[in-house]
Amino acid sequence: MKKAYDVIIIGGGVVGCAIAWFLSHFDLKILLLERELDVCCGISKANTGIIHSRSYLTPGTVKGELHQRALSWFPKIEKELDFHPSVTGALTVAFNQDDLNYLKSLKNIGKYDDAEILSPQESLLLEPNLSDRIVATYYDPRAAVASPFRLTLAFAEGAALNGVEFHFDSSVEGFDHQGKKIIVHTPNENYEASYVVNAAGLSSAKIAKKSGDQIPVFSTFKGEYFLLDKESQGLVKKILYPVPNSLSKGILVSPTPEGNILAGPNFESSCADDTSTTSQGLNEVRAGAQKLVPRFPFNQTIQIFAGIRPTLPERDFLIFVSKKHPGLIHLCGIESPGLTASPGIAEYVGELLIQQGLSLKEKDQIIFRKAFPVFHDCDWKKREELIAQDPDWGQIVCRCEEVTLAEVKYALRMNPPARTMDGLKRRIRVTAGRCQGSFCQMHLPSIVMNLLNIGIQDLLKSDKNSNLLVGKTKKVVNTHATPH
Ligand SMILES: Cc1cc2nc3c(=O)[nH]c(=O)nc-3n(C[C@H](O)[C@H](O)[C@H](O)COP(=O)(O)OP(=O)(O)OC[C@H]3O[C@@H](n4cnc5c(N)ncnc54)[C@H](O)[C@@H]3O)c2cc1C
Repeated sequence: MKKAYDVIIIGGGVVGCAIAWFLSHFDLKILLLERELDVCCGISKANTGIIHSRSYLTPGTVKGELHQRALSWFPKIEKELDFHPSVTGALTVAFNQDDLNYLKSLKNIGKYDDAEILSPQESLLLEPNLSDRIVATYYDPRAAVASPFRLTLAFAEGAALNGVEFHFDSSVEGFDHQGKKIIVHTPNENYEASYVVNAAGLSSAKIAKKSGDQIPVFSTFKGEYFLLDKESQGLVKKILYPVPNSLSKGILVSPTPEGNILAGPNFESSCADDTSTTSQGLNEVRAGAQKLVPRFPFNQTIQIFAGIRPTLPERDFLIFVSKKHPGLIHLCGIESPGLTASPGIAEYVGELLIQQGLSLKEKDQIIFRKAFPVFHDCDWKKREELIAQDPDWGQIVCRCEEVTLAEVKYALRMNPPARTMDGLKRRIRVTAGRCQGSFCQMHLPSIVMNLLNIGIQDLLKSDKNSNLLVGKTKKVVNTHATPH
């Protein structure tokens, strides 16, 4: 017999997880189906992580409207999910008179009393490493940065706590109709639902076509990045935006919530699955970053990476009810600011579901998520308390990020749990520091194998075919042999 749900969500990116969390406030049986082994494996894992403030919304567009709506959700996210973006503020940098006119438009859009246009001297006081060729900056104190992994996981964990089921390794292949029900096909199992939300990111257009719906041809554009070591912390304290071009917000320089510095992204035509970096693309990012911060220390790079944007010709989000299956909603073209807009998108999807006949009855009680402590961020008093409660807090597993055994255990048992090495990295930053795992990947695999009770061949880096180790090459015969 097919398992039946009120709502099935396809895709465990930030948008699918935000929708799951939003709907988990109501009396509904909800399932999220994700093709990969974890949440946050698509677009949501490789982006700039900026929670763009109101100054940067695009008036007159769906994405602008949902961006604006989303901003009012963040206080609720802080309260219910214990997730707190780092409010850094932002400077948008003008190098000429045209740029300066653009800064004035930002002030008109944002309408923040405390946002202002600053002279070069005032700007350099705030950011001494900024180029001295600037003519002015627009200072917006509200812009923030957030870990896209942690935001997605907070939504997912909050949804799971309130009853949403997650099935991984479940790629949706197509749909059928049985009366008013939609049958969702995956290779392992078929499911029945009254309503289905297609939030499959780069694959959502393909899925929309499978259901018989037409969407405009969309293109994919890569954005490449440099990530600097924490040694560079303080290089810039605020997000530095250039004036955007006709294609994107441009190459910016930003602190991350964890204390690294990020430069990027460029905007380069690419295939949907090509997350490689190129020397040409990285040179473009280098030039863009150096325009803002001439002494940008590229020698402190610890990681380069790329993310992919799904862009429709109108450069707007396309969220619509299927013409073939009432009860099926497609979300296409969710590019920037999709991370910021995700709770606004979730609320809007809820409204579309109501229009299609879903009744949303609020639950009597909602379980609030409490974020697990991050040892690295705790002061010494808190660290001592944690170690006194459980000695696993005193066992450092990753030196660069000071991740403890207690955190590894938590990441493996939380819901949804980490089942791959990348899943651990996204949850607790193990292997995300300066050495990028070259030290901790020596002992972390055996810890994970023991805790999950799996064999060496079952340890995966990211997806199903990413075995970290293929077998033993040598057998240890006598570890205590004394030298002659
Ligand atoms: C370079 C870049 C920079 C950006 N910077 C910012 C920023 O600073 N601020 C901001 O607000 N936004 C930013 N964005 C936009 C933001 O990252 C995206 O809008 C957002 O992550 C999209 O999330 P999603 O859930 O729609 O897609 P995804 O994260 O891709 O999630 C879709 C999920 O669906 C799954 N899936 C696919 N096919 C199937 C299937 N058949 N069955 C089951 N599951 C399936 C995928 O595995 C994936 O996990 C940026 C984007 C890029 C590319």
